Amino acid sequence: MKVSVIGTGYVGLVAAAGFAEHGNDVVCADIDEGKIARLRKGEIPIFEPGLDTLVERNVGAGRLRFTTDNGEAARHAEVIFMAVGTPSAADGSANLSYLFEAARDIARHLDHPVVVVNKSTVPVGTAERVARIMGELTKHRVVVASNPEFLKEGTAVDDFLFPDRVVIGTDDEDARELLHRLYRPFLRQSERVVYMDARSAEVTKYACNAYLATRISFVNDIANLCDLVGADVEKVRTGMGMDPRIGNKFLYPGVGYGGSCFPKDTRALLDTARAHGLSLSLVAAAERINEAQKLLLVRKARQLCGEITGKTFALWGLAFKPNTDDVRDAPALRIARALLTDGAQLRLHDPEGGPNFMQDLGDPAGTTLCDDMYEAARGAHAILLCTEWRQYRSPDFERLRELMAEPVLLDGRNQWEREQLEALGFRYAGVGR
Ligand code: NAD
Repeated sequence: MKVSVIGTGYVGLVAAAGFAEHGNDVVCADIDEGKIARLRKGEIPIFEPGLDTLVERNVGAGRLRFTTDNGEAARHAEVIFMAVGTPSAADGSANLSYLFEAARDIARHLDHPVVVVNKSTVPVGTAERVARIMGELTKHRVVVASNPEFLKEGTAVDDFLFPDRVVIGTDDEDARELLHRLYRPFLRQSERVVYMDARSAEVTKYACNAYLATRISFVNDIANLCDLVGADVEKVRTGMGMDPRIGNKFLYPGVGYGGSCFPKDTRALLDTARAHGLSLSLVAAAERINEAQKLLLVRKARQLCGEITGKTFALWGLAFKPNTDDVRDAPALRIARALLTDGAQLRLHDPEGGPNFMQDLGDPAGTTLCDDMYEAARGAHAILLCTEWRQYRSPDFERLRELMAEPVLLDGRNQWEREQLEALGFRYAGVGR
């Protein structure tokens, strides 16, 4: 099948390579000339495990190519996936300007009927808005369907190639049949396609992200209670997770959720609800709890280190989660800004996210990005573990104690054991234990 994907970000590039992997002829377009130039040279502009091999294989086989020309993408395909960003606008609503701009661009260049599929996360009613916008600019028939994406950064390739489920939102029989054919090879083992109307598909995506965000905030709230009453949230969550009605996934206490999806999607869902006179108070509470949770390690730093001003803190883990270089809305950004405002010096380390982090932080005075996690710990009055990359799990603690100015470990992901660390002379604080 001839497929185009608009946007070569974390979703678009994975989807384009994934569709190509199953034998489709794919054009992937982006207005970012730098990204396309790198892709054409065989470089992958983001860090995502396994993506380089997948892209290379499909470019090599002639099934995947890149362009800065949305017109070429429009003319190429019978189905066009929209995978452009939908970031938060200042009022919390989803900023749809990239999506609408791409839709206009494609409509102007269409020379045949097409199915346009919103893969970007968009508020309810957006498929209808895109259809109207495109209908005004082309005489060719355009059906707009919703097919929200559920891949997770860090495991995006596998998530896309072996999806838990595929949600297809359209009332158009032909579009449904076409998307069924396109996805069939991904679902050989069992039928996991859920068909619905576009509005329900749009709500499904936000409901999933809001639910997962709420689970995280719930367990963080319980962790904060455990802290006060002398219980261990790690035991509590294990006991909870064994109940099959609850399950153990997404029940890890920490420094709050971040990333390019949960924060903006909960905000956008709240905005949609507000526009319809509903408060969605559970989601609003999840967001409020999360904002407070991001500063937990700063509060613990004050408790264990006293005055922040003039002290040096090492931040380990800057990306919003392991195995990605994505720092959008990462808790570490909030933590770094709070410590800098209080007059701290920062030494930063992340296996992949360092450059993006420095760019978002604005490279302020008093911050040093280190290539090596031990180098970051040198002279630090505390290490703040913000993201649980595997390499932070079992560091050489004795070496750390030698390097640090004070032996303080603030474990924002409950990766380390208090007894072991206290025996080595560290002062330790985790989350809810
Ligand atoms: P991203 O910012 O990484 O990529 C978006 C790309 O779109 C950019 O490269 C940008 O240059 C390009 N773009 C913008 N306007 C364009 C235009 N007019 N024509 C062509 N290209 C254009 O975003 P992302 O993380 O891939 O997310 C894309 C969408 O998918 C968002 O709605 C997001 O909420 C959703 N989503 C993301 C994830 C995730 O884990 N990142 C998971 C599921 C869903």
